Amino acid sequence: MATASLTIDLDAIAANWRALDKASASGVQTAAVVKADAYGLGVARVARTLAHAGARRFFVAVTEEGATLRQALGPGPQICILSGHMAGDTDMIHDLDLTPMLNSVEQITRHLESLPGHPFGVQLDTGMNRLGMEEAEWEAVAPFVLEAGPELLMSHLACADEPDHALNEIQLANFHAMTDGTGLPRSLAATGGILLGPRYHFDLTRPGVGLYGGSPYEAARPVVTLSLPVIQTRDVAVGEPVGYSCTWVAERPSVVATVAAGYADGLSRGLSNNAVLWDGDTPCPLIGRVSMDLITVDVTHLRAVPRHLDIIGPNQSIDALAGAAGTIGYNILTALGPRYARRYVEGAA
Ligand SMILES: *Cc1c(COP(=O)(O)O)cnc(C)c1O
Repeated sequence: MATASLTIDLDAIAANWRALDKASASGVQTAAVVKADAYGLGVARVARTLAHAGARRFFVAVTEEGATLRQALGPGPQICILSGHMAGDTDMIHDLDLTPMLNSVEQITRHLESLPGHPFGVQLDTGMNRLGMEEAEWEAVAPFVLEAGPELLMSHLACADEPDHALNEIQLANFHAMTDGTGLPRSLAATGGILLGPRYHFDLTRPGVGLYGGSPYEAARPVVTLSLPVIQTRDVAVGEPVGYSCTWVAERPSVVATVAAGYADGLSRGLSNNAVLWDGDTPCPLIGRVSMDLITVDVTHLRAVPRHLDIIGPNQSIDALAGAAGTIGYNILTALGPRYARRYVEGAA
């Protein structure tokens, strides 16, 4: 079988949620962000694991994700939609009991007119300039919106992964200015914000990447292992090239393994000649170009040809691989390909 195996440790996800929950005071609720199919790891399995661990509120990006999540979780847990209430979403929001985080006057109007009395939250822009209402806009509509009873006022930090960045304090001050005195539950922190400390926690935190073992939560338990089968090996003589465009040429008699995964599986072409795979604890350089379904690896130094090589595992975190690809762990996770055979580990002692 030339299918790579992606192992997802659900116990580690639950442990990461519990640890991030403990990082804030007991009165602070810890939600879970499971947008983009739980960062590529499979929203149904992941969300059920998190609900079992104790998460009662979930965030997704769009309403369709909320509908899928409701199917997986059943009634009860609250499902919040970060993109708010878009045209065409009303029936799903109503029928599946989803809670939109309203981002604009247009969305507020749509929501209060089409679903009066249906739960909602409000997203405020405190300096990121991405989603949410700006200060002046909010001031204008706040009295009227607060009367309609939002369940949550939230905002998002742009630079929480850089604790010393000046924007963190500025966004914190803006959030206070926009929400103090409302008496409503408030949320500012994602994974990075939790690590900035209690001043950023308010009533509810919204970790995502930390649950899945990614930076900036350096203490996270790793969640993902990705093991790629070796399809064949060959001897390559000095001067012979390997792969598209001959970007690697043997400088010594070499043994090259051809391995079953490529950029169609989310292994960025930026890894060409610039990453390592692992045979247990022995590193093996990726050589030549990453192609659509295959990569080539120098295994000259191995005593025996392994049946597979790991590209994510104990010796190479998602963030280490991201560094080689010039990207971030989030991008590695959400690009994990549909061809991998997914195996979930849970209930391990
Ligand atoms: C994605 C996202 C989160 C989760 O962020 P992480 O950095 O993955 O913890 C929280 N809140 C909002 C608004 C988001 O877009």
